[in-house]
Amino acid sequence: MIPFVDLKKQYISIKTEIDEAISSVLEETSFIGGGHVNEFNLAFAKDYGVKHCIGVANGTDAIYIVLKMLGIGSGDEVITVANSWISTSETISQCGAKPIFVDIEEDFYTIDVNKIEAAITNRTKAVIPVHIFGHPADLDSIVKLCEKHDLYLIEDSAQAHYAEYKGQRIGTFGDAATFSFYPGKNLGAYGDAGCVVTNNDALAEKCKMFANHGALVKHNHLMEGINSRLDGLQAAILKAKLPFIHDWTHKRREIAREYDEHLSGINEVVYPKVADYASHVFHLYVIRAKQRDRLKQYLNEKGISTAIHYPTPLPLLTAYKSRGFREEHFPVSSRYRDEILSLPIYPELGLDKVEYISNTIREFYIA
Ligand SMILES: *Cc1c(COP(=O)(O)O)cnc(C)c1O
Repeated sequence: MIPFVDLKKQYISIKTEIDEAISSVLEETSFIGGGHVNEFNLAFAKDYGVKHCIGVANGTDAIYIVLKMLGIGSGDEVITVANSWISTSETISQCGAKPIFVDIEEDFYTIDVNKIEAAITNRTKAVIPVHIFGHPADLDSIVKLCEKHDLYLIEDSAQAHYAEYKGQRIGTFGDAATFSFYPGKNLGAYGDAGCVVTNNDALAEKCKMFANHGALVKHNHLMEGINSRLDGLQAAILKAKLPFIHDWTHKRREIAREYDEHLSGINEVVYPKVADYASHVFHLYVIRAKQRDRLKQYLNEKGISTAIHYPTPLPLLTAYKSRGFREEHFPVSSRYRDEILSLPIYPELGLDKVEYISNTIREFYIA
């Protein structure tokens, strides 16, 4: 069986580093706060090229924390994209604000920048584009719109660690960006973890404080906050993994190229396009395929696990039923929901497996 993700293989490949990191946390009992958390925050900020990294409990909280600390709340609207994981929109609601969904564009599955302006009202406070599957959203256009309408820009970078837009790393274009270190993400912890990055000193301090019960110094609560800290074990694991991320990203790209090559001759399949401006990090390799459900089942019978990101566009989820959205409001997301299929991609997936998966897809359409 070829699994959709294989976290075990990666662990085995860096077992010494990981085991050492875990045992040092145990030895020091630095479970909450402490050296590993500070070291990871500094190391990630430095390697990523941002002033501040604030490790938090997960990538969802990271978005919530930024929105709250930017003062977004009741009566406000925040624009985001129809095809994402629910974290992107539920955090807007958690703040008391209203998520406004914009459809995706046809080639790269990111927010359709031509449809953002029509969604802006006098209540709009921020835009949260998602660099979905590891492909950057069209940041120049988004930055311009945010400047024109005086809106905050928060990049949901959960799927796109180290991706680039015109040679500049995503996550460095807006007021802040958020990352997830969920185990299957390109940089993954061994449990829930995430972070906020920003070049804004005041915002960084507020986020750090809010995530730690409103205190920078113990018992000195300057405000009420939440408990959303990156824990010591996860920080130590992430710090041990950080030196490998560039090699892993390179391998993901290699695998994507191999898929492209094998799949390009199959008429029933559209392989992922990459914009001229983009350097894609392939968190997911998403194709569009004729008879998607039958293909998925066929691959499963041949020992190949696949997934769908996402089976239902956010606005059409039951969670948003009361908003009365219909498929025709989000024509592109709605059309693609029955065509998209995510194939296995992770640094440890051998190129021979990529060839086998591709050949099996070809076989399905010939048979
Ligand atoms: C994974 C993910 C998140 C949330 O991250 P968690 O760490 O699981 O809370 C947010 N947005 C997107 C687009 C994601 O893929």
